[in-house]
Amino acid sequence: EAGSRDVLRSPICCILGHVDTGKTKLLDNVRRTTVQEGEAGGITQQIGATYVPGDAICMRTEALRKGKEFELKLPGLLIIDTPGHESFTNLRSRGSGLCDIAILVVDIMHGMEQQTMESINLLKMRNTPFIVALNKVDRLFEWQAVKDAPIMEALERQKPHVKAQFEQRLQQSILNLNEQGLNVALYWKNPDKRKYVNIVPTSAISGEGIPDMLQLLVRLTQDMMSERLMFISELQCTVLEVKVVEGLGTTVDVVLVNGVLHEGDTIVLCGMNGPIVTNIRSLLTPHPLKELRVKGSYVHHKEIQAAQGVKLAAQNLETAVAGTQLHVLHKPEDLEGLKLLAMKDMEDIFKSVDRSGEGVCVQASTLGSLEALLEFLRSPAVKIPVSGIAIGPIHKKDVMRASVMLEKGRQKFAVILAFDVPVTKEARELAESLGVRIFTADIIYHLFDHGRGCLKRCGG
Ligand code: GDP
Ligand code: MG
Repeated sequence: EAGSRDVLRSPICCILGHVDTGKTKLLDNVRRTTVQEGEAGGITQQIGATYVPGDAICMRTEALRKGKEFELKLPGLLIIDTPGHESFTNLRSRGSGLCDIAILVVDIMHGMEQQTMESINLLKMRNTPFIVALNKVDRLFEWQAVKDAPIMEALERQKPHVKAQFEQRLQQSILNLNEQGLNVALYWKNPDKRKYVNIVPTSAISGEGIPDMLQLLVRLTQDMMSERLMFISELQCTVLEVKVVEGLGTTVDVVLVNGVLHEGDTIVLCGMNGPIVTNIRSLLTPHPLKELRVKGSYVHHKEIQAAQGVKLAAQNLETAVAGTQLHVLHKPEDLEGLKLLAMKDMEDIFKSVDRSGEGVCVQASTLGSLEALLEFLRSPAVKIPVSGIAIGPIHKKDVMRASVMLEKGRQKFAVILAFDVPVTKEARELAESLGVRIFTADIIYHLFDHGRGCLKRCGG
């Protein structure tokens, strides 16, 4: 029946914000592990997905409920941490954003920062509902830690001057967010949940506000988007990453948004050189509160139901394209249709570019980021024509393609805009000798900063 825990799927929640605001640490706190400390330089290098089961949510929110009614209708929450150098535009699923809801993390001591604004723009573009975690409240001078307490209770216990500091910084953040065109309010003072974005103060270190954050995510998803979360058997599954794992070979990490996957299923994926048809050899997940990218033993499954972050081991995954949809073959006669469907993501994008025309070349690490770049270049304020696109590292052949513009006497278009992809040495040398310019960046917005001069010249 509607509203029961096995009818709604787990919402997918993305966590984003400026580097060092505490995104990974907040997840650590929820998981009670130390992923953050295990990362190189504390930077999230890869996309991680954490599944928080319903029971864990109940446990962490108990102090907040204190006997009050709180019916958990969700099986759990799937939280996705995005790498510091990357925007979550990569995590697109066809037609809609992959995320059901997002947590925008803001450091209470720093307020608005560069990537905070970028994140807000992405959220607005994708129409993704979100909450603001005003993190690091424990950094307020003379903050008295009240471990894992609901935030109102923790605030109550602070000295007057600490409360005053909090109030002052909160007001500053509210003002900053207003300047970004957002109506915001502390979640317990929110006059209209549909018009105001909720703020929840947190500490990822001492845990104040974590119960509030979890409860808020649950409330906003199960109460306000139950339709979207209705479990449907139709499969929706997005490839996040293609990775080689010792002992398993090439694997794909996927987010199973909807439906069920089984061991032995025949799957059809989008490959760089055409569709891939293969069988799922192993269906793996990390232990429930661990993260997909944390090393260690995996749990093997016969079948998995959405939403989950899953690692798939199978043959022939080497050319799989991150950011595309995965399909399951149920009837042999559907094979050709599924192959076309699998390649459609890529073809639609390739078709949108006039490759016989004049324009710059664009290259990115995933289909999602390529799409975002093209979207940006097409926008009225930018309007830069594109004549070539590719996914993956820049090779000599890509430089050759861009150099066609030189032959046409269109110097200004002899440019490659590269996002989050390496440039081979040979390609760089060739570009230099031919006079093809390559602009690289790991963050989309930086690409536009670096290339602004070039982009201005290329545009109208
Ligand atoms: P990310 O880049 O947003 O993922 O940030 P991290 O989670 O890696 O945290 C960056 C730094 O801030 C680390 O040194 C954390 O220990 C620290 N940090 C994160 N959250 C808090 C918090 O709530 N309070 C304090 N005092 N430090 C925090
Ligand atoms: Mg991080």
